[in-house]
Amino acid sequence: MRILILSDIHGNLEALQAILLGLEYQQVAVLGDLVGYGANPNEVIDLVRQLNPIAIVRGNHDKVAAGISEGLDFNATALEAIRWTQNRLTESNRDYLHDLPVGPMVFNDSITIAHGSPMDEEEYIFQEWIALRSFQYFQTPICFYGHSHVPMVIGSCGGSDLQVHLPKESEICRLPQENNLRYLINPGSVGQPRDNDPRACAAILDTDAEEIRYVRAAYDVSAAQERIRSAGLPDYLADRLALGR
Ligand code: ZN
Repeated sequence: MRILILSDIHGNLEALQAILLGLEYQQVAVLGDLVGYGANPNEVIDLVRQLNPIAIVRGNHDKVAAGISEGLDFNATALEAIRWTQNRLTESNRDYLHDLPVGPMVFNDSITIAHGSPMDEEEYIFQEWIALRSFQYFQTPICFYGHSHVPMVIGSCGGSDLQVHLPKESEICRLPQENNLRYLINPGSVGQPRDNDPRACAAILDTDAEEIRYVRAAYDVSAAQERIRSAGLPDYLADRLALGR
């Protein structure tokens, strides 16, 4: 089975539409942050709902947009964008975000999904010690996570030594599960990549072949930027899309 893993779409409709084009998959899983930063929160939520994900968890921006928390830890730009988003969400889409499950979520024998680390939906997995500790907080062979917007495959044997890999475009990473190997995998960000590549990013897990393929899709960045600017959102949110950071 091929499962498309989407994370951190952030209200970027053009990027989401581009990544879905021409891909073959049977199921979709979403790691949260459907909204925040981008100018099309309702359209993105509508499209995600149409995809009918087999598994989805909320992200920290979804949580604030839905009014579950205040976003006191957000920087001024993120806060301005999330207030803008709150004022535009339809009631139905606000309810949808409000009711999204909190990760980590186990959705079959081999896969867990989370927004941030499996300990805390708002924790970034950047440092080695956080990655090491994360392996203690899920039981399945694979845990997908997002939040950092950086595609990454971290392997670990018995939760000790780490093998960190930064995948390239279209790279297929083998995920053998022998020798107690387990994986923390970030599929990258659909709507606001931060690995210096502005193209939308996602990953497809092939459960039969035990491999994951990274996909990048060029999209109309200037259209997404124009929507951000004409919405009156901070210019910085438009500028960064072109830089991929
Ligand atoms: Zn995010």
